[in-house]
Amino acid sequence: MGDLLADIADVGRDAKRGGYSRHAFAPAELELRQWFTAEAAKRGLDVQADRNGNLWAWWGKPGRNAVVTGSHLDSVPGGGAFDGPLGVVSALQAVDVLRAKGFVPTRPFAIVVFAEEEGGRFGVACLGSRLMTGAISAQAAASLTDPDGVTFGEAAHKAGFDPLRMGRDDRALSMIGDFVELHVEQGRGLDVPVGVASSILAHGRWRFSFTGEGNHAGATLIEDRRDPMLPASRMVLAARKAATGGARATVGRLIPNPGGTNVIASSVDVWLDARAEEDARTREVVAEITAAATRAAEDEGCSLKVTEESYGDTVHFDAGLRDSLAEVLGGVPALPTGAGHDAGILAAHARTAMLFVRNPTGVSHAPEEFASSDDCAAGVVALATTLEHLAT
Ligand SMILES: [Zn+2]
Repeated sequence: MGDLLADIADVGRDAKRGGYSRHAFAPAELELRQWFTAEAAKRGLDVQADRNGNLWAWWGKPGRNAVVTGSHLDSVPGGGAFDGPLGVVSALQAVDVLRAKGFVPTRPFAIVVFAEEEGGRFGVACLGSRLMTGAISAQAAASLTDPDGVTFGEAAHKAGFDPLRMGRDDRALSMIGDFVELHVEQGRGLDVPVGVASSILAHGRWRFSFTGEGNHAGATLIEDRRDPMLPASRMVLAARKAATGGARATVGRLIPNPGGTNVIASSVDVWLDARAEEDARTREVVAEITAAATRAAEDEGCSLKVTEESYGDTVHFDAGLRDSLAEVLGGVPALPTGAGHDAGILAAHARTAMLFVRNPTGVSHAPEEFASSDDCAAGVVALATTLEHLAT
């Protein structure tokens, strides 16, 4: 059936940023939905949209407890070619592989394309699966706006969906017996073509506000200063020091107030993104950074306030499914991922697994994102083997 990724290589290219900008319900993503519908139809699959903007392509009769695979077709602004579409095209190609060998699923079987997985247009990631599972209400989703002020409700309506009928969909959820999402790996966690996911890291964001005394950079003697930039800097270093054993701690944003070259800042806000495999370890890393930041603030006569802005527990994919897939695929490694996925949202509702395809550079959410065609082909074979195992 040819190289399906090459078929869509020209859709939604971003001339300014490079790579692709395929935003939910915008022209490029709508074109990809039409392309998917046509490809599914070519294979005799029956495509239906659910009421939350997700597309389902059924191989045979729709039914409960189905084997479901798929991913998303939208991208971040200036994203790569693989994040999302690789899972969708691999699902179509896995059906080709299974058909060619005469396989007929004994369970209902579907490919699903989730809407607005990246949150690239309306700001909330995994919106289609969050709506389906009730993790976000229809009302809250409908009022999300894109950078042009268009609401999700308006965009969905224009694309043929009724925002008033969106929200938790128990019927769709009951259809999903096992969900397997194939995805390009987004770090450098794989040194073989394919692996299975063990978990999604626990992750959160914290704001550290250091307050001292704003003053004149020339007239204030060093010993008279209470400069919040000092503890803020020591906190950045403490974050790096605390992130050991696979934990991640990042300061990517720091705002001094008022922010003048010849002004000792009166306060500094520092945002910490911290992630680790287990909840307890994530908390421990943040506690260690907080303790160091508190000591640093005291040393400089400053005060510190720490605010947790968001937190998500570790998602553990079904251990039995993970282990059986690793075995069926010939002993492939299991690895955690630092990125969020629809499979993570569904994990609380169905047996869920993920397959990762090697990313040799570890670059993702950027035009340079890459996976070799040999590894992508290995991904299709692994997905076909997985689906055959589950649907036999
Ligand atoms: Zn993705």
